Amino acid sequence: MAGLRVAGPGERAGEEMHKVRWLLIGLILLVSLSNLWLSASPQLDWRTPLRVVIYPINADRQWDTGQYIAALDDEHFEDIEHFLARQGERYRLPVTRPVRVRLAGEVQDQPPELMLDANRLEAALWGLRMRVWAWRHDDWPEGTPDIRIFMRFHSHHNDQLPPHSMGLRDGRIGLVNGIASIDYQPRNNFIAAHELLHTLGASDKYDLSTNLPAFPQGYAEPARQPRLPQQRAEIMAGRIPVTEGIALMPRSLDEAVIGPQTAREIAWQ
Ligand SMILES: [Zn+2]
Repeated sequence: MAGLRVAGPGERAGEEMHKVRWLLIGLILLVSLSNLWLSASPQLDWRTPLRVVIYPINADRQWDTGQYIAALDDEHFEDIEHFLARQGERYRLPVTRPVRVRLAGEVQDQPPELMLDANRLEAALWGLRMRVWAWRHDDWPEGTPDIRIFMRFHSHHNDQLPPHSMGLRDGRIGLVNGIASIDYQPRNNFIAAHELLHTLGASDKYDLSTNLPAFPQGYAEPARQPRLPQQRAEIMAGRIPVTEGIALMPRSLDEAVIGPQTAREIAWQ
């Protein structure tokens, strides 16, 4: 093979070293960038409040939904703060106010959709797209929030039920579907608190096939006699079991508690 110079063993080793060095630099860059841009999820120590920012989105682009979003302020979300403060006190947290919730300006774009029949790979790819999307749409002026909750509001004239809400642990992002009505805001906040706790590592505590709270971890008072009806909901079970086979959605976070298993999952115990 004329014209082709064969590299000696020393030269080849040098090239290999060069490649490995570039690969390492690339890896370090990738990890640093993803941590910077996509918010890594640091360990929880619960000594200072976590900064939670709510980003409202007009999901159905209706006029009344827009009017509702325009009238929102921090006060409409303060029951999330109060709920976590009350529950944190029960678990003797060092911080008296575990989260501070603030409202950002309206986000004009819609987040990527996750199909209900998505497989694991599609769900993982959606998670990545969601993290990039959240990073691109985060214009919060006071530093990077610890947790971002995108609250998609739907008109209360809309007959179609909003799709599922979810909380991503990686990147600490919540996607909440809510109803644009002051009567529903306490319930929107209940869903937001549930998704917020998912971003901190809490797992669901209900049976996925029946939506009924799992016993005992999904019950606010598992030792109560008689067991039913319960008075409150464990936040990650999402419903109050009232009779055999029936559980009701709470009206607000006043009817919710953080059970011991959820407390362990979010490093409260
Ligand atoms: Zn959940």
